[in-house]
Amino acid sequence: MHSAVLVINCGSSSVKFSCIEAGTQALLCGGMAEKLLTEAAVVTIELGDETTKTAMPMGGHAEAISAIYSALQQAGIAERIAAVGHRVVHGAEAFKSSVVITDAVLDTIERCASFAPLHNPANLLGIKMMQQLAPHWPQVAVFDTAFHQTLPPEAFLYGVPMPWYRDFGVRRYGFHGSSHRFVCQQAAHMLGIPLSNSAFITAHLGNGSSAAAILNGKSVDTTMGFTPLEGLVMGTRSGDVDAGLLPYLATSLQMSTNEVIGLLNTKSGLLGLSGLSNDMRTLSEAASSGNAGAALAIEVFVFRLAKAIGALAISLPRLDALVFTGGIGENSVMVRSKTLARLSILGFEEDATQNALCIRGRSGTISSAASTTALVANTNEELMIATDTLRVLAERVEGLGD
Ligand code: AMP
Repeated sequence: MHSAVLVINCGSSSVKFSCIEAGTQALLCGGMAEKLLTEAAVVTIELGDETTKTAMPMGGHAEAISAIYSALQQAGIAERIAAVGHRVVHGAEAFKSSVVITDAVLDTIERCASFAPLHNPANLLGIKMMQQLAPHWPQVAVFDTAFHQTLPPEAFLYGVPMPWYRDFGVRRYGFHGSSHRFVCQQAAHMLGIPLSNSAFITAHLGNGSSAAAILNGKSVDTTMGFTPLEGLVMGTRSGDVDAGLLPYLATSLQMSTNEVIGLLNTKSGLLGLSGLSNDMRTLSEAASSGNAGAALAIEVFVFRLAKAIGALAISLPRLDALVFTGGIGENSVMVRSKTLARLSILGFEEDATQNALCIRGRSGTISSAASTTALVANTNEELMIATDTLRVLAERVEGLGD
């Protein structure tokens, strides 16, 4: 029976995959290939309790996808797969929702690559390889940007000349769409209110972090912009900086603008501020042991987050809940506590006991009875992609019947 969806997420040097049973939403098999195109390239397959690691020195995306496909065949899972859902980073304004992949769709994803030169080409490689290996499986593209295509112009435009938008696509696109979409659905479910009449701010806090204002299930503002560098302070990304820094730093560091952008993406954020680590767990432990740099990095992270949440609130008529998700949002009691303390202006007050309980996969309410509601919800981007893949294919079948 064809009842599972294979979800593929090709990054610039990694391929993550999950095979999800549609009905039960159970994870049949998952894993990742990482450090691609290096001597240390390795593919890890998790099947039940068993984890197998296979070295594939200098292996690239094609070898990784082949290895994943073989593992699925050997485990007898391939025959259960109904479709493949691909995470695609940038769909620009061309894609406002997920789509069945056709040659025309592939061409458009290729055209969007100028907006995401590290990611879209990797996503395309994954799609083409999967098409070669299993031409009978329908394939769907689910875009990180699509959920934010409902932003109104005042939220997506930068204060720059309009021809830059019209001629070159200069605007805010937003990312992490599958996560924001998934957790706003979860939040509505947790509160027992219809998504179609809801107002949320979702904070996806992981190694990459972004927050979004979501009204009636539609994104109306978000912190990431033209690229995923804009917005919150992240693991290694700076978040918002003054564009005037670029020429100044290029001169001071005797680097090209591209090299400076590289440093803002990979050497900044929590890592740059603390001089210690990009990892919130490491920083929390270090701060508790008196490391001043780690403590300061956490304070900057929280201040910028609370400030962004305040700014996002102006896009909503009311706030039904603030929703924390992502590795930090789902596990860091301390970051949530500090953030809510900074947000008393929006009526937030932590329930410390409930907050301490919401870790390691436990979702729930972490605000006091008198407070504006704050929730922890567990994100599942893979499940969102799998669900969307089946929905898009079902709609296509219905459409053919019209
Ligand atoms: P993600 O990118 O969503 O996997 O999130 C990764 C981030 O979550 C890293 O900064 C981790 O340190 C952080 N994280 C995971 N577990 C914890 C924890 N128990 N306490 C604090 N941060 C955590």
